[in-house]
Amino acid sequence: MLRRLFLRAPTSYLQASHAYYFAPQLPTRVPPPAARSLSITRFLCSSSSSQVPNSTSIEHVEDDVNLSASPPAATISIDRSGLYNSPEHSHEPSPDSELIKHLKSIIKFRGGPISVAEYMEEVLTNPKAGFYINRDVFGAEGDFITSPEVSQMFGEMIGIWAMCLWEQMGQPNKVNLVELGPGRGTLMADLLRGASKFKHFVQSLNIHMVECSPTLQKLQYSNLKCEDENNTDGMVDKKTFSLLAGAPVTWHAALEQVPSGVPTIIIAHEFYDALPVHQFQKASHGWCEKMVDLAEDSTFRFVLSPQPTPATLYLMKRCQWAATEELAKLDQIEVCPKSMELTQTIAKRISSDGGGALIIDYGLNAVISDSLQAIRKHKFVNVLDDPGSADLSTYVDFASIRRSAEEVSGDVSVHGPITQSQFLGALGINFRLEALLQNCTDEQAESLRTGYWRLVGEGEAPFWEGPEEQVPIGMGTRYLAMAIVNKRQGVPVPF
Ligand code: SAH
Repeated sequence: MLRRLFLRAPTSYLQASHAYYFAPQLPTRVPPPAARSLSITRFLCSSSSSQVPNSTSIEHVEDDVNLSASPPAATISIDRSGLYNSPEHSHEPSPDSELIKHLKSIIKFRGGPISVAEYMEEVLTNPKAGFYINRDVFGAEGDFITSPEVSQMFGEMIGIWAMCLWEQMGQPNKVNLVELGPGRGTLMADLLRGASKFKHFVQSLNIHMVECSPTLQKLQYSNLKCEDENNTDGMVDKKTFSLLAGAPVTWHAALEQVPSGVPTIIIAHEFYDALPVHQFQKASHGWCEKMVDLAEDSTFRFVLSPQPTPATLYLMKRCQWAATEELAKLDQIEVCPKSMELTQTIAKRISSDGGGALIIDYGLNAVISDSLQAIRKHKFVNVLDDPGSADLSTYVDFASIRRSAEEVSGDVSVHGPITQSQFLGALGINFRLEALLQNCTDEQAESLRTGYWRLVGEGEAPFWEGPEEQVPIGMGTRYLAMAIVNKRQGVPVPF
C-alpha cells in the first residue's frame, strides 16, 4: 500500500560493541499522496501531519454514464549486563494500554524477552487490542493508505488478471476467489464492479475474505454491498451475497478454513508485509536473535539473545537459499516463517485444486536485512513506542516466497517478481485511464491522473502543479508482483 510506498532508509538499531544500544533512524519521509481518500502508503510518510491533505473522498468513476456511480515461543535467559538504552528514547510514564499490559505480562511470565515476531504478531493482531482489530486504520483519518484506496484502477486491473487466469483455467463454472487481508474491501469491490459485465466470470465466483479483524470484516461487508439471504425456512447457514456481483461472500480467519476442492484464485495485496518477522544481528560469536525486553524503567527495549533460539532454524533455511556473497554483505537478517508457511499452504492448495495466486507488496527479490517500521498517523515512529497504536510492517522477501513454493510442490510454477509498473502497464492501465477520463468531472480527472502516477510512476510526478508538499510520488517500481500458478494453467498474464 501506499502506506508502504514510503521510501525507507535502512536502519541500524543495534550496534555490535561492548554496550549494545538502541539507535533508530527515522525513515526518509516523502510527502503523502492525495488519494481517493487520501493519506499515506506504508512506504510514504509525511514529515508532518499538517501535510496530510483533508480527506477528499472522490467517488468511484464509471465508464458508462447509464450506470449509477457507487462508489515459537522460547524461554531465554538474557545477560543484560552491558546493555544500554539511549536516554533519548525514554519517555514520561503514561497509563499502559491493555496491549502494553499484555505484552509486559508475557515478558514477565516468561522471565525473559520475546521475539520481534511475537511482539509484531501481538501488536498487529492480538484479538482484543491489536492494531488492526478495532478500527479502520486506512485513509487520511487513519494511519496509512494502500493502492486500492489510491485508485479504483488498481482493483480493476487485478480483476483483469483474475479473469485472464480464469480463461487459462478453462473457464470453470465454480471458482473460489480468495483475498488475504482485504482491508476495507476496496480492491474486491473495484474488481467486482469492473468484472460485472463479464457474466460467466462473476457467476462462477465464490468470494472468500480472509480477515482477522471484526471491524474490517464489517467494513468489507458494507463496501461489497452485501446482503444476507432471507432466512424464511429457518436455515442455520445463511448465505451472504455481494450485490456488486451476485456472488456469495464468506469470511474466514485463515486460508486453511477456505473450503478446498474448487479451482482457486488467491489475491494477497499488502498482506505478506504484515506477517511477523524474526530479526537476527551478526555478533562476534555468530548470529543472535533480536528480542524485545523490558527495561528497568518498564519501557520496551531491544536486546540480543546470547544463545540460539528456535527461530534460528528458519535463519539457517533462509541462508541456504542465498548466495554466500549476498550473506557476506549483511549484518542483519529478517526471516518470516509465517510467510514461508503461508506460501506453502497457497502452493499446496493451487497444486491440488488448480488456479493461481497473485502477491503484490513492497519488498525485494533478496534476503531482507532490517526493514521493520512503524507508522502512526502518516508518520514514522519508534517500533517500540506505544505498541498497538501504530502499524508495523516489513519488506517482503520475494526470493523466499519463490523457494517456499517450489520446495513444497512440483505442480506449481512461480513467476516474477516484476514491478507493479510493469504489471499494471501490461494489463492495460493506460487504456483504462484514458477510458475513465472520457467521462468524469475535473476533480475526478485530477484524482485519476495522480492515482495513476502513484501506482505506476517513479518519483515525483512531473506534471504536478499543486502544492509542492503534496506532489504525488510514484511507487511503481517499489512494489513488486509475483504469481504462483498450477503448471496446467501455463504462464500467467503478464509474466
Ligand atoms: N489488502 C488491503 C489491506 C492491507 S493491510 C489493502 O491493500 O488495502 C493488511 C490486512 O490484512 C488488514 O485487513 C488486516 O486486518 C489483515 N491481516 C493482517 N494480519 C492478518 C492475519 N494474520 N490474518 C488475517 N488477516 C490479517
